[in-house]
Amino acid sequence: MPDLGRARGPVPGTGPVGGTDPVLVVDDVTKLHPGGVTALDRVTLRVDEGELLAIVGPSGSGKSTLLHIMGTLDRPTTGTVRVRGYDVRTLGDRRLSSLRARMLGFVFQHFHLTDGLDATENVATGLLYAGVPHRRRRPLAREALARVGLDHRRSHHPQQLSGGERQRVAIARALVNRPALVLADEPTGALDEANGKAVLDLLVELNAQGTTIAVITHDRDIAARLPRRVELRDGRVRSDAREGSAA
Ligand code: ADP
Ligand code: MG
Repeated sequence: MPDLGRARGPVPGTGPVGGTDPVLVVDDVTKLHPGGVTALDRVTLRVDEGELLAIVGPSGSGKSTLLHIMGTLDRPTTGTVRVRGYDVRTLGDRRLSSLRARMLGFVFQHFHLTDGLDATENVATGLLYAGVPHRRRRPLAREALARVGLDHRRSHHPQQLSGGERQRVAIARALVNRPALVLADEPTGALDEANGKAVLDLLVELNAQGTTIAVITHDRDIAARLPRRVELRDGRVRSDAREGSAA
């Protein structure tokens, strides 16, 4: 459990009581969007340490809404979200930002790298709001780049990198703070087949090394490769299936 800091951390008494809290719990969450759309309808989902799961479903099934709620970027209409035991509802915006910066990592379909920064600097931005001292950021960024096999590209700018390499930089940025959970939204959606496979292989490998990862995808082939698949349909969990290991 990282030290969330006295000034910026979550409110005492709302946090974990035991040492074995799940990484994330979504409990009976409903989300109504403006206009009366029920994007999520009583969704319950628990993610434990070390899991690699796919959240799969057709367009409009509620995947992005669920990702935003799991990532504490949006709040549910009703129901509870706990990250490592911290009840998100009880945290104000600043404490929630702090929790997000320290416990969650995000990977997006279109990478969201900054053009004016090289790979190391892009990865180091993952530490900006996490209370990591300036002098520690660059060495940690290099370490994360090495973990995704890109140490030799550390001084390259995004426009000098292939799509697959850019996504690996983005994955390094998500990992650099050793988050409790990495949320990846269609991480292979902008890549050709070979690069998409390489990125998925990397996520599987990082998971084997202990990183907890949720991959949001509409691609059934990707979902089929992961050891747990949560299927959404019309805002509801239609199935939640586990296998002993990744195929
Ligand atoms: P998916 O990511 O699986 O395509 P979404 O979570 O984006 O699904 O959307 C689920 C439902 O909620 C859809 O009917 C969508 O039109 C609706 N929706 C999503 N975001 C908003 C929003 N900001 N305002 C109103 N309706 C929304
Ligand atoms: Mg979506």
